Amino acid sequence: MIGSAPYAHILMLIGELTVLIILLILFCGFIILILTAYAIRTGNILFPTFMRGGLLFLEGLVRGLFRVFGFEDTDVFRIIVTLQNTLNRRAFMAVPVQERAVFFPQCLRAAACPAHLHEEGLKCRSCGLCRIGEARQHLEELGYRVFIVPGSSFIKRMIKKYHPRAIIGVGCLLEVKEGIEMSSQININAMGVVNMSDGCVETSADWKTFYQIALLGIDPEKIPKDLKKYQES
Ligand code: SF4
Repeated sequence: MIGSAPYAHILMLIGELTVLIILLILFCGFIILILTAYAIRTGNILFPTFMRGGLLFLEGLVRGLFRVFGFEDTDVFRIIVTLQNTLNRRAFMAVPVQERAVFFPQCLRAAACPAHLHEEGLKCRSCGLCRIGEARQHLEELGYRVFIVPGSSFIKRMIKKYHPRAIIGVGCLLEVKEGIEMSSQININAMGVVNMSDGCVETSADWKTFYQIALLGIDPEKIPKDLKKYQES
């Protein structure tokens, strides 16, 4: 009956539990905030597994707290991408290159790019006007599948068709972050490379980071001479 002692007791218990959960969430939010701020300042990620879980569940709260302290959402997104790359690195390395795919955004192309649209994306003609042509040749020789993405649903379509176990996604910060999160939901080891400039045409990729990732786990004997400088020891 409402108003009876057991009922009031249960209500009080629920109230106490709710306050406890809220305090716990706020506490975790603050810990993640401190760890994220430390990562932004030093580039060093402490407790990456805890941070990934925390940022996944408390991203909104952490972003809100960050805004209070004058940080931008992009700072949090960058940390999320770096975290995911750090945590996925070992699993990515273990995947044979034939089971990996690379997705380049079409904005990296030159404005005068002569590539035509095909069922499997834009077909690069290696015209030399942008660096995709050279990268595509190197990557395909190594065994990668390489795609130039013409639109948002394309990546999912190619994943469904070829079932890569690992992918490298290049693009603007938000695209890369969302791509990595989508990949982890479907058990694909994704590594992200954030563009150095944004826009719709002639953007620039972080090629050094890109090749360092692309060469992970590749037999050194098979790495072309021009790419040796990117190989991490
Ligand atoms: S190298 Fe390929 S992607 Fe780049 S502009 Fe030429 S055809 Fe287009």
